[in-house]
Amino acid sequence: MIELVSPRDNFIQAVAARLRPAGESRAKDNPEATAARAAAKDYSGQWVVFPEKRPAFYLRKALAEREGTSFVPPVLDSIDGFVSRVYEERLGMSDSLIDPLDAVALLFEIHKKQGGLGRAGKSHDHFLSADGFFPLGMKIYHDLEELCLAGARTSDIRELDLSREFEAKISPEARGRLQSLAAFYESFYAVAAERGYSTLGLRSRAVLDGLRPELWGGIEKIIFAGFYSLTKVERQIIRTMMNWENCSLLLMEGRGLESLLAELGPEGISLIETMQKENKNLYGRRQENKGSRGDGETEIEFYKSPDTHGQIFAFNKAMENRLTDQKGLDVKHAVILPAAETLFPLYQQTLTTLDEDAYNISMGYPLSRTPIYTFFDQLMELVQSRDEDGRLYSPHYLRFVLHPYTKNIFFPAETNTVTGAGTETRTGAGVEEKRADLTRILFHAIEGEMTQGRRRTKSFWKLDEIENDAAIREAVEEMLKGVENPPDPAGLMEHLRSIHANTIGLFGEIRNVGDFAAKMARVLDYIYENSTARLHHFFHPFAEAFTRQLDSLGKSLLQVMEFEDRGGYFNLFRKAVASGTVPFEGTPLRGLQVLGFWEARCIPFEDVSILDMNEDVLPSFRREDTLLPFAARKRLGLPTYEENERRMEYYLDTLLRGARKARLFFVENNDKERSRFVERLVWERQKREGERNADKYVKTIQYRVALTGGKTASVEKGGGVAEFLRGIKFSATALDMYLRCPLQFYYSRILGLEEKEEIGEQMEKKDIGSFVHNVLEEYFRKFAGKALRERDLDIGELDRIIGRKFEESYGGDMAGSVYLLKLQVERHLEEFVANYQIPVIRDLAKQGKPLVILGLEQVVQAEISGGKFELSARLDRSEKRGDDIFILDYKTGANEKFVGINFRKLESDNRESWREAIGSVQIPFYGLVYSRAHDLPRDSVHGRFLMLGKSHLSPKIEYSPYDGEDEIARREQIGMMEHIIVGLIREIIDPARPFEPTSDPARFCPPCPYGTICNRK
Ligand code: SF4
Repeated sequence: MIELVSPRDNFIQAVAARLRPAGESRAKDNPEATAARAAAKDYSGQWVVFPEKRPAFYLRKALAEREGTSFVPPVLDSIDGFVSRVYEERLGMSDSLIDPLDAVALLFEIHKKQGGLGRAGKSHDHFLSADGFFPLGMKIYHDLEELCLAGARTSDIRELDLSREFEAKISPEARGRLQSLAAFYESFYAVAAERGYSTLGLRSRAVLDGLRPELWGGIEKIIFAGFYSLTKVERQIIRTMMNWENCSLLLMEGRGLESLLAELGPEGISLIETMQKENKNLYGRRQENKGSRGDGETEIEFYKSPDTHGQIFAFNKAMENRLTDQKGLDVKHAVILPAAETLFPLYQQTLTTLDEDAYNISMGYPLSRTPIYTFFDQLMELVQSRDEDGRLYSPHYLRFVLHPYTKNIFFPAETNTVTGAGTETRTGAGVEEKRADLTRILFHAIEGEMTQGRRRTKSFWKLDEIENDAAIREAVEEMLKGVENPPDPAGLMEHLRSIHANTIGLFGEIRNVGDFAAKMARVLDYIYENSTARLHHFFHPFAEAFTRQLDSLGKSLLQVMEFEDRGGYFNLFRKAVASGTVPFEGTPLRGLQVLGFWEARCIPFEDVSILDMNEDVLPSFRREDTLLPFAARKRLGLPTYEENERRMEYYLDTLLRGARKARLFFVENNDKERSRFVERLVWERQKREGERNADKYVKTIQYRVALTGGKTASVEKGGGVAEFLRGIKFSATALDMYLRCPLQFYYSRILGLEEKEEIGEQMEKKDIGSFVHNVLEEYFRKFAGKALRERDLDIGELDRIIGRKFEESYGGDMAGSVYLLKLQVERHLEEFVANYQIPVIRDLAKQGKPLVILGLEQVVQAEISGGKFELSARLDRSEKRGDDIFILDYKTGANEKFVGINFRKLESDNRESWREAIGSVQIPFYGLVYSRAHDLPRDSVHGRFLMLGKSHLSPKIEYSPYDGEDEIARREQIGMMEHIIVGLIREIIDPARPFEPTSDPARFCPPCPYGTICNRK
């Protein structure tokens, strides 16, 4: 019997309504037994099968609420669980369900025997290695199972190739693969059965073949509930069982359900005909069952935002009351995540604000998106970079040691219970605090040594070179000087050896897949035991899933496989792991339901929010991971992406129509567009309401990011620090740094931690900057103290200086990128002289003003506030233009925004406005120092940045942060900046004012070199 339920009815209640504590329908057959079971609230004689597991939790809860007392639940299964249960318990089969890794191992054996995956007209690929075969093997296994579940015979696949129709539709290469697939299909199931394995496909076919009512002794009722799409074998099982008196099929009305009904035979077809006669379709038909919540329209809201965070921001806003008063959040509320990657932002922005029992999560999260995968990936990338001499590539080394799991390994590292920010361990000397900050300092010192100065050009290091390097050790000692309770540096270097040995060092030799899996598991254990990793979100479920995956890999038939190249193991790991997911089970059932899209099937919600309603997500256009071409899949009755889209549409329709209120969130930007399902829903509403403007229904979200990283503590100014600060000489760079982030100032100027340079592009930029400064200094030096004339400027001389300085820095053999860089610098500085310097001289000459260079790279010092503070400035160039003094600062950038001052926003008494309005205090600071040092009125000194990074150089590259046109305004602005500079200095030395982390982390933390040490990266 087929029954239809409106999605407006509660589907779970509809199933529950069809269950009774005992077999009332058979009461007349065996009244005594039935009465006894009824008294015991025993549902075990009834069996409900859903498309997947989750609705069973809801059904159990509904029955518990109805009974109000303990009861024996019905047998509840997903369709896969049902097949395996019948296979094992009713048919009495005892083989094991094969693990996909073992299936791939068997396929590899067959591949070697039968000569590989064929290509028509070409030789078979005999030489595909094990790691090369793995991803293909996964696809083959997936295809074989689909074929098996579609009831295909080997001849069906072979005949496709012979068919004329397919000659045109399928390429020769695809036809070759088809033939190979047929051969695999023929052998695989026989080989698997021989080894004592079965697959889900095999089990389903065995169940279909063995279906007899007698097998169901003790079962009064079987309900298949909530299906939309079925494989051919599943469909045949259900069709056969529906002929039995005690079996029924309960379906939810929804868009496109007709296609399933048509496949279910006469009864389904007659249902469609009845509806056609009544001039109704399944989408529009309404039905009022008992318990229905009424027939009002679902209220749907649409939210457009520029990115994922915007969606969550909008969700939090829309749910504000419920999220604040968590009592109102129950299992009738759901947030659906069709894109698994949104789970993390949702967790960070929403779920962490809730009590733990105010929500649960049920979805599969891809292992390849977890931080543990990134950690392993960086480890493998590093190990793979090892050259014949055992040296490792330094950028990969730094990436690995700066991963949050590695840099936060406790010192000393011994197994213990993590209690919060730190942990304690007992040693011979008593209780010793374990500290992760010391490991961060250690790796920061190594990073400094690898990226600074002479040794930044050393790209490959051996582990023992790092461990025994004198400069690294000195850098560690130096850094420890600013640290409270510093450990013995030798102990910290020993700690480094231990970290190396327990991670990178394990992979010096790998015997086989089993050995590799065991070593990966050891690294994971080590990180779990010894670092703060376990305090990170979801570390436990992620680590458990990895452990299971590594365990299966280590025990699989692949375990004895050996690869010639280490990369083979890593590829296998990447492929094997990429295919796995972390199963968030979402039990016990409580609070806000956070579900994947498929996990929400058949479950009624009153209030539902769906995120990522975007094309490519819902529906997703990912073609099936298959070797079978589309035309062949269609002919063989396998699901295609078209069907997948219809399936999504059906479940979305039932989900929305079942809710009172729904919110659909989507991202719209250059890369993403709203889902076609959103388009249609909006269009349907427009039609209904006669509204032309679709935008009327869509709320647009704009927001400002408040970036929060790990908690960063302020640093108090203890006795030593306050003392140190009193003797400090202040520079413009230091004040700029303090303005951006007082804590950054502390790391750099108090602790003396040098800013790291990235190896690669960043470093080049900085190098070019100082190179250009050096060239210009030397070029103009001989003119210092004299009037600069156009005829003195010799471009040939400029090129000679550039050539010589390049040779000094890079040696005589200039090739590739260095050569190109030299050409670029030559061209740019030639342009500087021709298009900037000469026009400036000419323009001044027209006004009768000579240009005299006063100083180059000159250090100027001054005291302010009655000698209380010392200021120091290094001026790139100072010059006199007529009677006016000009201070010039070369900038290799092009954008004035980063160094300018927005005086419209700046209020001298509003401290918060300083950071927002000031790009740099440099020019005001230089003006102040120079005027004090030379006892000049402060407004007689003009400061200019020369923006050398502009693509066209001219006198317009001069930039002043002050208002150049209005002399009165300029004077006021100079005064205001002097007040601010003094204010900043007073703040810095104020012992009562701690060094705080920046108040604008979104802007300043990402590029900050101390993100690692202050836990913001
Ligand atoms: S990471 Fe952020 S808070 Fe930490 S020092 Fe840098 S700018 Fe300041």
